[in-house]
Amino acid sequence: ATSSAPVVRFAPSPTGYLHIGGARTALFNWLYARGRNGKFLLRIEDTDRERNNEQAIAAILDGLAWLGLSWDGEAVSQFARADRHRDVAAELLKRGAAYHCYASPAEIDAAREKAKAEGRPLIFLSPWRDRDPKDAPKDVKPVVRLKAPREGETVVEDHVQGHVVFPNKDLDDLIILRSDGNPTYNLAVVVDDHDMGITHVVRGADHLTNAARQTQIYQGMGWAVPEFAHVPLIHGADGAKLSKRHGAQGVEEFRAMGYLPEALRNYLVRLGWSHGDDEIISAENLLRWFDIDGINKAPARLDFKKLDDLNGHY
Ligand code: GLU
Repeated sequence: ATSSAPVVRFAPSPTGYLHIGGARTALFNWLYARGRNGKFLLRIEDTDRERNNEQAIAAILDGLAWLGLSWDGEAVSQFARADRHRDVAAELLKRGAAYHCYASPAEIDAAREKAKAEGRPLIFLSPWRDRDPKDAPKDVKPVVRLKAPREGETVVEDHVQGHVVFPNKDLDDLIILRSDGNPTYNLAVVVDDHDMGITHVVRGADHLTNAARQTQIYQGMGWAVPEFAHVPLIHGADGAKLSKRHGAQGVEEFRAMGYLPEALRNYLVRLGWSHGDDEIISAENLLRWFDIDGINKAPARLDFKKLDDLNGHY
């Protein structure tokens, strides 16, 4: 645990709207920073150039502003940092913590078929891990893979999920640069979080396995690993993953339905985090009481009845 002020971030991929689960993650980050004299940064993970556009980014910024979640400084574009990501990949190669892999798609397919026949997930062990790059085929553009440890385990100490152990034999050598030279998602996240001075990564629990992979990248660079808090996703009242049929998913939809930002905020923070029996918590007390250690591990369930009740109080 660190005693200095935390630096946290919200790192949405611009998919067209601010999902209610993402809004809750942003809110947790914001409360954690604002309650502790810390910083709340925003990074737009806009590396998927086909999907990203100005409108999708604007929808996220609007949603955050409507909820009153102000970020510090300028929003960072992940795409704009691709050169820096490539530099770090080069540094990992130099340190022997990564290698060029010339495995052909056919080779990888064969390994996949074999794994399937044996009823196990594909853990591709590249022959190039230990092969002399001098033997590399001239006409193949390689990918860069992290040379992940094969022995032992990678442990994620998580403020919400606890002590999570990943046997290293289950994690294959992650691709960090594609054959076209573009960085992959996990490399970009690690480099950005490191450069932005992030002390606590608070995000959706769907990224827990990525936390193990990212830990291996930090270790390869000799960088300090940030603290983690992986927040359960929001499900519908029936326990299923939140989808269209539950009524609303995007903050914009809740707004259009007439919910007030104060009510939605209070509701979202109370969803899977509680302070005694308090239903309505003042903004000051939220900042005083909120802690990532108090977030529930079980998936949260969205209950429109409770939200309606709460909305009536504001
Ligand atoms: N961009 C990722 C997402 O929207 C979040 C990545 C992260 O928080 O590390 O799911």
